[in-house]
Amino acid sequence: MRPGWDEYFLKLAMLASERATCPRMHCGCVIVKDRYVLSTGYNGSLPGAPHCEDEGCLVVDNHCVRTNHAEINAISQAARHGVSVNGATAYVTNMPCTTCAKALIAAGIVRVVVFSEYHDTLAESFFGESGVTLERRPMPDRQICYDLGSYSSARPCSDAGGSGS
Ligand SMILES: [Zn+2]
Ligand SMILES: [Zn+2]
Repeated sequence: MRPGWDEYFLKLAMLASERATCPRMHCGCVIVKDRYVLSTGYNGSLPGAPHCEDEGCLVVDNHCVRTNHAEINAISQAARHGVSVNGATAYVTNMPCTTCAKALIAAGIVRVVVFSEYHDTLAESFFGESGVTLERRPMPDRQICYDLGSYSSARPCSDAGGSGS
């Protein structure tokens, strides 16, 4: 079935999370304004730094601190490209942690949509104080429905190779 906008962007956030590199949590974030994707992010190490998957997590106070979280990476990617996220919506697989909640607010995000919770976070109270709308939605169907066989004008590529890392 054709997904609605919120379900569609939450699915994109789920897809982004597939690139995450910390085995303790796979999180994705998509920043959207006027139904236009401005930026995406997932929790991963800094450019050029080792991955949790390869070197193990770097745990401080029961949190892995090796990665930037999805929300910070999405905001950072927008900043690198000179894209304002002011007034935008952040679709996140999980409730943001306190630090990410504050970064989203500071960047001008006005609405946050999630489908799962996160422990130890003051996100909800910070969002409330700053007038950021927080919406909890059902987790989208984990299937991505793309069936090449259903479309008569499409043919699978015959010798598609790997996709790299
Ligand atoms: Zn980790
Ligand atoms: Zn976070």
